[in-house]
Amino acid sequence: MHRGIIADIDLGAVSANLRAVKALAGHSAVIAVVKADAYGHGAVEVSETLVGAGADYLAVAFTAEAVKLREAGITAPIIVLFDPDLGDILKYCLIPVLSDCKTALAFAREAERRKTRIPVHIKVDTGMGRLGLTDRPANQILEIAAEKGIVVEGIMSHLSEADIADPSFTKTQLDAFTALKMELLKNGLHIKMFHIANSAAVMNIPEAHFDAVRPGLMLYGYSSCDRTAKASHGASLQPVMTAKARLISLRRLQTGTPISYARTFVAKRESLIGVIAIGYADGFSTRFSNNAEVLVKGKRAPVVGRVCMDVTMIDLTEIEGVTEIDDVVIIGRQGTESIGASELAKRIQTIPYEILTSLGSRAKRRYL
Ligand SMILES: *Cc1c(COP(=O)(O)O)cnc(C)c1O
Repeated sequence: MHRGIIADIDLGAVSANLRAVKALAGHSAVIAVVKADAYGHGAVEVSETLVGAGADYLAVAFTAEAVKLREAGITAPIIVLFDPDLGDILKYCLIPVLSDCKTALAFAREAERRKTRIPVHIKVDTGMGRLGLTDRPANQILEIAAEKGIVVEGIMSHLSEADIADPSFTKTQLDAFTALKMELLKNGLHIKMFHIANSAAVMNIPEAHFDAVRPGLMLYGYSSCDRTAKASHGASLQPVMTAKARLISLRRLQTGTPISYARTFVAKRESLIGVIAIGYADGFSTRFSNNAEVLVKGKRAPVVGRVCMDVTMIDLTEIEGVTEIDDVVIIGRQGTESIGASELAKRIQTIPYEILTSLGSRAKRRYL
């Protein structure tokens, strides 16, 4: 039997979340971001669902992720966001994002040598400080666009804080992006698509939508915003992943019994303690030690003591009639209670992205 996380992936929720994106994005095309194995949900199955539900493009971080999708038979256009490999870009008909002039010119010349033309997107840095053209980007783009081996199909940038309530820095980035668009137009360069909006901007900043939007997190049912997903222009998102663990032991322990390494928890009463088969090797951080709850029989049970490598202890004293066959929900809903990746993220001062990728990537997945 599988040890560790069992993740149920609700592909119907993926489709519903894509519909929520489309409702917000209006006429903008949708570039669905499925990097990091679809944020830990399984890139092949999720991509098939997204394309079936009307995503126009897929986007991955690295070339190898795109190759995996092609080998699974996915024919939709795929954008490679970082560090594209020219050989595989050509072989698998992928769309590279190019972030500097030198690489762009090298791609153009190699494509020309092979008597072909590749569509590319050019990245500009409007304030993220990560990747993209910075120095007079319009001039560089005009130089790149003059090459025969490539067609500049898109210009993109990335927002650094679209999820916070104060929109001023986002506005600075959007202004720079719009100014670039105007300057290129003035120079007679018509680009098919400009895109800059991540999930937070899809939900909260309509003026960031441009010709295409690039959501990731919201497709998996979460919002990174200060405001809740519901408050954000009425988008109601459905969490896609339910993460469960198996209960492998159930014991009644006497008052005063210490639990787990370093005795950080000592039973203050006679206690019913369960051991579940997940630990930090499964992506369940040691920072959840004495600092998380799970659901059993529709009720919350606290994690007690330190999280171990392969197992974690939970206090089931308050829950009636627990048996070893009961499901233990780490993320998901049971009865009227639910625990989301955002709740877990808050407990350990991280973001739901990290919770989903940590737990999802090591899980045994089942698709619904
Ligand atoms: C990850 C990523 C996205 C998606 O961001 P979300 O916050 O998950 O919506 C969009 N664009 C780029 C370049 C990214 O790296």
